[in-house]
Amino acid sequence: MKIYNTLTKSKEEFEPVNPPQVTFYMCGPTVYDLFHIGNGRSFVMSDMFRKYLIYKGYNVKFVMNLTDIDDKIIKRSNEINTDAKEFAEKIIKEFFTDIERLKVKKADVYPKATEHINEIIDLIKILQEKDYAYEVDGDVFYNVSKFIGYGKLSGKKIDDLESGARIEINEIKKNPLDFALWKNAKEGEPFWDSPWGKGRPGWHIECSAMSMKHLGETIDIHAGGNDLIFPHHENEIAQSEGANGKQFVRYWMHFGFLNIKDEKMSKSLGNFFTAREVTKKHSPESIRMLFAQTHYRGPLNFSEDLLDSAAKGLEKLNNFYELLISAIEKSDETPKPEVDIEEFRKKFEDALDDDFNTPQGVAIIFDFIKEINKILAENTPINRNFLLDVKSFVDSTAEILGILKTSEDAGSKGIEDQLINLLINLRTKAKADKNFSLADEIRDEMIKLGITLRDSKEGTTYKLN
Ligand SMILES: [Zn+2]
Repeated sequence: MKIYNTLTKSKEEFEPVNPPQVTFYMCGPTVYDLFHIGNGRSFVMSDMFRKYLIYKGYNVKFVMNLTDIDDKIIKRSNEINTDAKEFAEKIIKEFFTDIERLKVKKADVYPKATEHINEIIDLIKILQEKDYAYEVDGDVFYNVSKFIGYGKLSGKKIDDLESGARIEINEIKKNPLDFALWKNAKEGEPFWDSPWGKGRPGWHIECSAMSMKHLGETIDIHAGGNDLIFPHHENEIAQSEGANGKQFVRYWMHFGFLNIKDEKMSKSLGNFFTAREVTKKHSPESIRMLFAQTHYRGPLNFSEDLLDSAAKGLEKLNNFYELLISAIEKSDETPKPEVDIEEFRKKFEDALDDDFNTPQGVAIIFDFIKEINKILAENTPINRNFLLDVKSFVDSTAEILGILKTSEDAGSKGIEDQLINLLINLRTKAKADKNFSLADEIRDEMIKLGITLRDSKEGTTYKLN
């Protein structure tokens, strides 16, 4: 398997430190608000990749941090007169609601910054002893010029960055690029005791401290959105490698931006959707399908129309699956059809092994469905083991991408959509059983309710009038 490594800017063969173990760290949210669907893309893509590693037989330990102390959290909680901790806990609950709606598997560990203050302080002390950090009146900064490799991930050069950096008034740092490891507590802010007085940790240091605690000094995969490459991940490298003198991360994976009408989604442009809003209107499967249809590193165009067409594609998959289940019920021991399922599986794996090319993977699943649909359309009993192999292929590949509705998902979907699909499936079965009068009756009654059905070779889709 090859992964594009942001550090080396090339596709590299994936070789974890201790196979089959894989240590995987993903930067999580700062919990001051609901996350937007651009972050949702990163969470979903890391989830798909994690599931693929599990499919490949790796034993993955997946850690995602929760930044539960930060300027924005303090500001928001002050605005509504709540304790920062209590406010962060409330948003963490909302975060879990949304990732569940997106069918993202829970991390093995969700370390919180406020629960790792000792580890963070210990790490800052090491950096200070090694002269990578210095204190100014209760603030501790990382001295960027001391770390030889600074800029190696982002490809930025310190000199260029310095000349571009604005000189702040009352600058207490030695160098404009130096960043805070520990922040002196201001009036009314939450604080912890430390060797530098009362204060709180900076953002970057928590990821170094928590990844080290939960995954060790060298981790296999570190992932996050493109916007985290600089300065966040660059700073994580400076901290972890400065303290440990060891390679911090073997493979850096970064997810592309989510664009709306070719512009990066952002609050300031007003083209901003929370994952909450999107999951209220669209099924997690169609959102994931749209994500899977774009390579994880590229920009992803996001619109209602694209979500609707992703949902249409999924109807084909769901209809196919229903037909498959009923074909299994009617299967027998007739000779196997001549479709090489293993060949499709190999193509699928080749696609995902090539820097996780999910668009190609999706295309292969749909080629496969098309092939099998031809056999199902003959409507004669089919070899049982063959059909079970077909089912196993679809289950395992769709499970990685999270695009197949499973019975456990039923509770989280709109009941309306489920009922309509139930009727469509009953009608399909009626037709398969040559009970055309029942099939027509179902269709006519649905039309009366304002639901128009459209039949095609790939199955039946519906439209609400
Ligand atoms: Zn991080």
